Amino acid sequence: MAHIIDGKKISIEIKDEVKKEVETLLEKGITPCLAVILVGENPASQVYVRNKKKACEYVGIKSLSYELSSDTTEDELLKLIDGLNKNPEVNGILVQLPLPGHIDEEKILLAVSPEKDVDGFHPYNVGLLSIGNAVLKACTPAGCIELIKRSGIEIIGKKCVVIGRSNIVGKPVSMLLLAENGTVSVCHSKTRDINEEIKNADIVIAAVGKPKFVKGDMISDGAVIIDVGINRMENGKLCGDVDFDECEKKASFITPVPGGVGPMTIAMLMKNCLSACKSQKGV
Ligand code: NAP
Repeated sequence: MAHIIDGKKISIEIKDEVKKEVETLLEKGITPCLAVILVGENPASQVYVRNKKKACEYVGIKSLSYELSSDTTEDELLKLIDGLNKNPEVNGILVQLPLPGHIDEEKILLAVSPEKDVDGFHPYNVGLLSIGNAVLKACTPAGCIELIKRSGIEIIGKKCVVIGRSNIVGKPVSMLLLAENGTVSVCHSKTRDINEEIKNADIVIAAVGKPKFVKGDMISDGAVIIDVGINRMENGKLCGDVDFDECEKKASFITPVPGGVGPMTIAMLMKNCLSACKSQKGV
């Protein structure tokens, strides 16, 4: 039976480390500050934003909240971001996605100053990530790496298979695994023999967006399975991209859903806010 990686516990460890560093900054008169922008009334986004504000409170980061109506124009949003970019009190800017259809998401993400881009989505930070120099790494991918490393799992030289090539998970997590000296294959919907790829993997990162996509007979004995998927089932329950019950019997380590990768995203966001603040203040 696999060891179940406790993402909740590891995320609290990380938040506690951030909290300690924030206390040191506060003693020096520096208050890290995150601005969170929400446009519209998407209920899932409202929950995410609330959880981000709660995490800020926990670690001692000041949060500024901008909750805008769904008819906010692109220009109004760009103006708000420009003001926050120029405000030296604000260290991180987070625009909660998705945005209403009339707003160009790419334009908005590009407008956030790269040094305040705590989501790590700006092409400048994506570029730094790919050359192995990122300060602000995309939160969910960075969270996957922390889960692996803090569980005592070696990445160096391991065959890592990432299922999914999205800009927010698959691609950045592949780059991070490469930076950790893993040998990385990235699979997607056009991959010819995905079962063969997965069968050969020491570490599998599933970011497909399809419930129970990875079955027990697809993985090798002793594989490490990191499940990024969050799929809401008809019964209202969450389900990952991995068939947990089947894979748990063969894997050496596995993350559950919920309670695996999920809680890590906000913890890494807090870490990014702290890093952004420290690099802006030169401490
Ligand atoms: P996405 O943008 O929909 O990307 C899915 C990827 O899976 C694509 O690259 C797609 O390939 C690939 N794919 C789809 N069907 C496939 C198949 N049959 N065989 C092989 N590959 C296939 O999704 P995402 O944004 O990366 O998210 C992935 C999952 O992670 C979702 O469940 C999402 O909810 C979850 N997520 C969780 C967190 C968290 O905080 N834990 C954060 C972000 C996302 P193509 O490129 O060829 O289409």
